Amino acid sequence: SRTLAFLGLGAMGWPMAAQLARHTTETGGRTLVWNRTREKADAHAREFGSEAVELSAVTAADVIFSCLPTSTEVDDVMLALDGKLREGAVWIDCTSGQPEAARRQAAGLAQRGVAFLDAPVSGGPMGAEAGTLAVMVGGDAAVLEGVRGDLAFAGKVVHVGATGAGFAVKAINNTLMAVNMWAAGEGLAALARTGVDLHAALEVINAGSGRSYPTETLIPQRVLTREFPLTFQLGLLAKDAGIAAGVVQDARASAPVLMQVASLYRAAAHTVGAGADYSAALRLVEQMNGVEIK
Ligand code: NDP
Repeated sequence: SRTLAFLGLGAMGWPMAAQLARHTTETGGRTLVWNRTREKADAHAREFGSEAVELSAVTAADVIFSCLPTSTEVDDVMLALDGKLREGAVWIDCTSGQPEAARRQAAGLAQRGVAFLDAPVSGGPMGAEAGTLAVMVGGDAAVLEGVRGDLAFAGKVVHVGATGAGFAVKAINNTLMAVNMWAAGEGLAALARTGVDLHAALEVINAGSGRSYPTETLIPQRVLTREFPLTFQLGLLAKDAGIAAGVVQDARASAPVLMQVASLYRAAAHTVGAGADYSAALRLVEQMNGVEIK
C-alpha cells in the first residue's frame, strides 16, 4: 500500500489532496497533508480522511506532492526536509514553477536518491474537484510510469520532456490563455465604444472563428456579470507570463506578443491588485478605454 503526502492546501492543493485521500482510502493507503497554516490541514483531515502532519512527518511518504505559489516556496520546504527524505521516494511538484528551478531541485534531490518530476496542472479548482486536471510532466519517463497510478486528480497526463519541460509548457499554456483574454477584452471594449451589445457580440463570436476559452466561458461568467469571483490570483497569472517570457529568452526565440502580454499582466497586477481574480485583468483594459465590458 502507498503512502502519499501533499504539501500546500490552497485553491488547487485542497481539492487535489482530496482526490488523493479518496484514492488511498479505496486502495488501503494513506494520504498525509501538510499546510503552512495548520488549521487547513486539520480541516482537510476531518473532511476527507487524510492525516494532518508536521512537515518532518512527510518523510514517511513514497510520493510527495507540492503545490505552492512559486518555486521559491518549494525551495524553502525542500531545504527544511533536506537529508530526511527516503531513498527511492519521488517528489512531484505541481506548482506552476520555473524550469531552471526544476533542474536545480532535481539535481539536489538526486544526490539523496530522490527522483523529481515537474508536473504542473491545468483545469482550475473545479477540474481538481472533478478529477479531470491536465498534467504536463517533465523528467524521467520511467519515474512517471511508476507514479501514474497515484495521480488521482488527473484526467490527462502527458510526458512533455526532460526536467523543466513541464513548467515551460505550463507557462506557455497560461500565457496563450492570457493572450486570448487580453485580445478579447480589447476587441469587446472597442465594440462597447461603438454601442454594440456585448452579449450579442459574444453570442456570434462564440459561433465563429474568434472564439476561445475566455470568450466562451471566462468573460461571460466573470466579466459581463461584474462578479470576478476569485479562483486564480491575477498575481499568479502575471508570474506565469513572466516565466513564459524567461522561456522565450532562454530559447533565444522571437515572441513579441508573448513578451508584451507578460508586461501587460504585470501592469494589471499592479493596478488592479495581485490578489484579484485573473479575469479582473480586463479592468485595466476597461480603464484604457473608458468603458466597462458588460
Ligand atoms: P493559493 O494562494 O490558493 O494557495 C497557496 C498555498 O501555498 C497555500 O496552501 C499556502 O499556505 C501555501 N503557501 C504560501 N506561501 C507559503 C510559504 N512561504 N511556505 C509554505 N507554504 C506557503 O494558490 P493556488 O492553489 O491557486 O496556486 C498554487 C499553484 O498552482 C501556483 O503555482 C499556481 O500558479 C498554480 N495553479 C493555480 C490554478 C488555479 O486555478 N488557482 C490552476 C493551475 C495552477 P497558507 O494556507 O498557509 O496560506
